[in-house]
Amino acid sequence: MVFVLGGPGSGKGTNCAKIVDQFGFIHLSAGDLLREERNSGSALAEMINTYIKEGKIVPAEVTVGLLKSAMEKSGSTKFLVDGFPRDMDNLRCWQKNMTDRFSFYADVQFLLFLDCPEQVMTERLLERGKTSGRNDDNEESIKKRLITYVESTKPIIEEFRAKGKVRAVDSNRSPDAVFSDVALCFQAAAHK
Ligand code: ADP
Ligand code: AMP
Repeated sequence: MVFVLGGPGSGKGTNCAKIVDQFGFIHLSAGDLLREERNSGSALAEMINTYIKEGKIVPAEVTVGLLKSAMEKSGSTKFLVDGFPRDMDNLRCWQKNMTDRFSFYADVQFLLFLDCPEQVMTERLLERGKTSGRNDDNEESIKKRLITYVESTKPIIEEFRAKGKVRAVDSNRSPDAVFSDVALCFQAAAHK
């Protein structure tokens, strides 16, 4: 299993699609799973929608539940988990619910960290917002998402870094240059 983190607009989705093409992982995006659940009109839809618009982290039980059932449905064990773990609660909840399947650190090969300046991420998201139809690709939501990223997600990246599990790529470059370094992380992993 590989985790993919970085700020909003750092290129997680873009690179995950390429990793899947080249290295054959099952891609599980926490954000995509939450948007799917919201669009299904389930009892949780309204609550999820509000959290996303406010750039806040959806309660961990919901996200972990969606990830767990997507994993079970896939029948695979080779996962690229994008946008997770985004905070300490995500980490704790995973440890509580997934220990029968995955040990958090032992089974995580590495965490891919896409590193990009806030200004660049903001510009990309505003551009994406012209066509994405996402209710969080606007200036107000982006500001809130960046605060959540700095306050809640960066400490998680530091925790994985302290355990020697982070592979960082500068994602403030052309898409090809970024993916070329991302691919190197996965090739190195394949030879371990
Ligand atoms: P995330 O999944 O981290 O939110 P995306 O992969 O959706 O980020 O990328 C955000 C936006 O930036 C998208 O519109 C995407 O096409 C664009 N983008 C991604 N990587 C790059 C890059 N290296 N250079 C320029 N634009 C990029
Ligand atoms: P993303 O698609 O990764 O940009 O995520 C969009 C939004 O979905 C975030 O701003 C959060 O509101 C929510 N979200 C994504 N991943 C998680 C997660 N791991 N835990 C809780 N909420 C999440």
